[in-house]
Amino acid sequence: MAQHPRIILLGLPGSGKGTQGALIAQNWRVPAFSSGEYFRNLRREGKLPAEVSAKINAGGLVSDEDVNMIVVESFLSTQEAQAGFVLDGYPRTVAQAAFLDEYLTKQNLSLTAAVYVDLPVETAFRRISGRRVCPADGSVYNVYYSQPEREGLCNLCGAPLIQREDDREESVKTRMSTYEAVTKALTVYYGDQGKLITVDGASDPGVVFARIQGVLDDPA
Ligand code: AMP
Repeated sequence: MAQHPRIILLGLPGSGKGTQGALIAQNWRVPAFSSGEYFRNLRREGKLPAEVSAKINAGGLVSDEDVNMIVVESFLSTQEAQAGFVLDGYPRTVAQAAFLDEYLTKQNLSLTAAVYVDLPVETAFRRISGRRVCPADGSVYNVYYSQPEREGLCNLCGAPLIQREDDREESVKTRMSTYEAVTKALTVYYGDQGKLITVDGASDPGVVFARIQGVLDDPA
């Protein structure tokens, strides 16, 4: 694959995009940017506007205009993003995808691939319901398959783990249906561009990553 790949990740909430993003970043030595993580960091610092926070907690989407601006200002325009990147959670709408294409085209750049981590809704739902996070440092655990060393406590800092507000059942239902209604169209968008890579996400993270690596390193 190109030395400085520009990759975006698609998949249901709970499909393991974040984990794959970190593995891709490590393997190809590119920075990863997660728009959801950006919002969670802002919240931790007490800087997330109340109306945006409420929208996220309810499982809704932040406006295209706001997200586009944030992703450019906080990441795409920075020095570290010039040598390739992996984006997790952005773009999430066709309008955002078109904006990103336009932004890159202006710099004579383009995306390398859109990796779609495919997982049945029921499996994604179960994964999310088991997810627990550290409110202090953002570490992620899962009561089903990635327990902390001491029950309910962060391995890194010992803080009691919590469930993300938007991982509660009602919000998850909204996020899943938003994905189906809005974000899933991106698989068609990138499919039409010949950039879509679909991998089965129903395995251990290492196995899923090996599949991604296989396709990216050796496109058929
Ligand atoms: P995530 O961690 O990717 O599941 O994102 C958590 C939440 O942040 C989402 O449910 C949205 O409310 C918001 N968010 C993150 N990325 C975007 C985006 N690209 N467009 C709109 N809202 C977003």
